[in-house]
Amino acid sequence: MSLLDTLRAAVGPAFVLTEGDLSAYEIDWRKRYHGRALAVVRPGSSAEVAAVVQACAAHGTSLVPQGGHTGLVGGGTPDASGTQVLLNLGRMNRVRAIDVANLTMTVEAGCVLQAVQEAAAERQLLFPLSLAAEGSCTIGGNLATNAGGTQVLRYGNARDLCLGLEVVTAEGEVWESLTGLRKDNTGYDLRDLFVGSEGTLGVITAATLKLYPQPAAMSTALATVSTLQAAVDLLQLAQARLGPGLTAFEVMNTLSLALVRTHFPQLVQPLPAAPWTVLLEQSDCEGEAHAQALFEALLETALVRGLIDDAAVASSHSQSRAMWHLRESIPLAQSQEGLNIKHDIALPVSSVPGFVAATDAALAQAFPGVRLVDFGHLGDGNLHYNVQSPLGVPAADFLRDCEAAVNTLVYDAVAAHGGSISAEHGIGALKRDELARRKSPVALKLMRAVKAALDPAGTLNPGRML
Ligand code: FAD
Ligand code: ZN
Repeated sequence: MSLLDTLRAAVGPAFVLTEGDLSAYEIDWRKRYHGRALAVVRPGSSAEVAAVVQACAAHGTSLVPQGGHTGLVGGGTPDASGTQVLLNLGRMNRVRAIDVANLTMTVEAGCVLQAVQEAAAERQLLFPLSLAAEGSCTIGGNLATNAGGTQVLRYGNARDLCLGLEVVTAEGEVWESLTGLRKDNTGYDLRDLFVGSEGTLGVITAATLKLYPQPAAMSTALATVSTLQAAVDLLQLAQARLGPGLTAFEVMNTLSLALVRTHFPQLVQPLPAAPWTVLLEQSDCEGEAHAQALFEALLETALVRGLIDDAAVASSHSQSRAMWHLRESIPLAQSQEGLNIKHDIALPVSSVPGFVAATDAALAQAFPGVRLVDFGHLGDGNLHYNVQSPLGVPAADFLRDCEAAVNTLVYDAVAAHGGSISAEHGIGALKRDELARRKSPVALKLMRAVKAALDPAGTLNPGRML
């Protein structure tokens, strides 16, 4: 039987797509990668995933796992050869179980993140992973990329929120370990091998996730600061005053919010433009009055100490949502402005101001007029340090002529400041060569050994990451 016939028999002919407009599966979110798949296959169960993987293995056909296709590094888009099978997990979207006493839930990989948050909220519980793509990204993709987002400061990244996995291996076997255990020292941590492996080691089909009690009250504020060092000082003060109650600490530079103003003029910006605007969020387990008193005392102290110039506290849930909406609109505003050179970098928090000052200056000198769209999760030392073409220079020309040199300048500075070239988006196709240049040879050798052990034929997402 041909591969396509075997796949049709495995998942049903309606779920093997070979014709019509497949661009939603074949072109990535940033429209940088235009692939072509042999077929888009949409299995409905772990057994069907296993059958698809076995069929591809038998035919020596490579396979690209895909969830919500919101990844930013070209990891979930097929190559242009027309020979790869695209395995889209979107139909596997059931919540299998919620264990309220154990504070866990077990969900299938294709569950959209927002649906997982909502299922937890229905039980008055919190699944804290949160990012701007949550309306379409999936838990499988979040775990495969070890996604971060806005709540890492308090709750950790996707890896920290995962207790168990179900994975279809490269041979097409199902490894079921949906244990929900917080302690399990029985050998190598296989779960943590698959988390962050970007579809190169196995196909995640389900996960058991950590839940938390919902906070009794939340507070949100925007505050303007004149330097990034003041933002770091404010972070320290907020951590000292609020402890684990500080659940988010985001920064946005002038241009980030200016692009939001240009492309989304209907969004109200409550504070005047400033070099940096901070978004702080507090979660409190006691209640409104307690939360408000703590939060206002913090901002008062910050004003008196001259750390912040101005602040606006949300007085309702909808005002809080509006503040978050400003922050979350930056990636969209940027993409409307045109392609840019993205850097998703991690640094020790203490090194962030020095890094930005030195790198902004070096870029301005090497590429006059270049525009810097800097924003991100300062609480985690994670900046989205993005470089947009000078005004009047078409984005495509700028990328063609300058991308490699800009990357070298930025990543050399990241290395000099003890940072990482990928904080949360992963490596995919975009940063594969950079990883090969910058990761230590010993680390690369170990990574290749893991890949060879788990996927000896190299059929899972080849050419990504390694
Ligand atoms: P996809 O894009 O479909 O896939 C991503 C990778 O995972 C690919 O390599 C794919 O092969 C692999 N994969 C997908 N599903 C599986 C599976 N079931 N088993 C094995 N491998 C699989 N990321 C952050 O970390 N923090 C942010 O704040 C953030 N903000 C974002 C904002 C916007 C507007 C957008 C568009 C993206 C953002 N991202 C962010 C990128 C982030 O990586 C994704 O949104 C998300 O984690 C990917 O999930 P997905 O289901 O879309 O995965
Ligand atoms: Zn981010």
